Amino acid sequence: ALQVRRNGDFYYPIYFEDGFEKLADAIRTEGLENRNFCIVTDTNVAPLYAAEVQKVLSPVASKISVFTFEAGEKSKNLNTVQQLYKVLIEEKLDRKSLIIALGGGVVGDLAGFGAATYLRGIDFIQVPTTLLSQVDSSVGGKTGVDLEQYKNMVGAFHQPRLVYMNLHTLRSLPAEQFACGMGEVLKTGLICDGDFYQFVCAEQEKIQQLDTALLKKMIRRCCEIKAGVVERDPKEQGERALLNLGHTIGHAVEKLMDFKLLHGQCVAIGLIAAAKISLNRGLLTEKEYQQIIQGCESYRLPTYIEGLHAGDILAATKKDKKMEQGQIKFVLMKGLGGSFIDRTVTDQELLEGIQEILR
Ligand code: NAD
Ligand code: ZN
Repeated sequence: ALQVRRNGDFYYPIYFEDGFEKLADAIRTEGLENRNFCIVTDTNVAPLYAAEVQKVLSPVASKISVFTFEAGEKSKNLNTVQQLYKVLIEEKLDRKSLIIALGGGVVGDLAGFGAATYLRGIDFIQVPTTLLSQVDSSVGGKTGVDLEQYKNMVGAFHQPRLVYMNLHTLRSLPAEQFACGMGEVLKTGLICDGDFYQFVCAEQEKIQQLDTALLKKMIRRCCEIKAGVVERDPKEQGERALLNLGHTIGHAVEKLMDFKLLHGQCVAIGLIAAAKISLNRGLLTEKEYQQIIQGCESYRLPTYIEGLHAGDILAATKKDKKMEQGQIKFVLMKGLGGSFIDRTVTDQELLEGIQEILR
């Protein structure tokens, strides 16, 4: 397992496995056994994996309950959290109990927020089942829910006690959702590891076929990079903002498309815009710029959109909460695998990047 620092000298493990069998041992190793467990999951994941996880956990749990909510971002709100609290109370979960987030990023964010706030905070573990949640959202300790149209507006930093990935769960994931996870993988490589970016592009075929060894290598590297960034900057005062590469314009597109495009797809579009701005500044060569487009295309991610206006995207981009005193914190690329935060990107530069993603 990969060991990730939590607070000070406290570490938690991330497991990369081919099944659920080792979950019980992982729980014992962290001393989390013989507690009252609540599995939190959604209506797509529950029929696929909840029974198996329940069975694997039964030898190490004093009691197991399951809370299942309607799959989708629409459920990531305080209403669902309130329903979760009620189940936790009914099932008599106490300060020593354990929440198990079984599902994608929506489940992880919501269950993690429930764990962070129920009884002022109880332990939870992440069992991420989407590529996006395995490479991104299950690591880093950000939890939270949306408030009406405002994404992740209410939340808490709460680190899991362990993260357990069963890579076989990716076999049931719809191709579009897999592609979304790849958007974050490509982003991760572009932030700080050019060799990794090249590896992911070169092994495209096998990765798409879900070759276990390659997936493990890829997901592990993403977790390592994210954990490293988060460890050095847990509360996003500096370096952690690099993880927003492609997200500034990406979020604007996501919002304007009324969430009809998936997050990872918008990240890909945002990466292209950020790459174009970097190209215009001479920070990327034309060849590197083309490699970024090819990376997205080879993983069936969109690189442009139709039906939006540049001015609207610019306005939405500038409304982003990552603004600091009116200055936009924009992440630029420098070569494949280099990135930095820049506060001098002008509206004109943003517009040129945005033009590149419009058809
Ligand atoms: P998701 O949880 O909605 O999962 C996508 C879809 O796949 C859902 O319909 C889900 O039911 C289904 N699914 C999950 N696992 C499956 C499986 N193995 N087989 C078949 N179907 C499966 O979305 P996501 O893309 O995993 O995560 C997106 C969420 O993560 C967003 O809410 C975003 O804000 C959040 N996020 C959080 C962080 C963080 O740091 N906390 C980082 C990035 C994203
Ligand atoms: Zn993202």
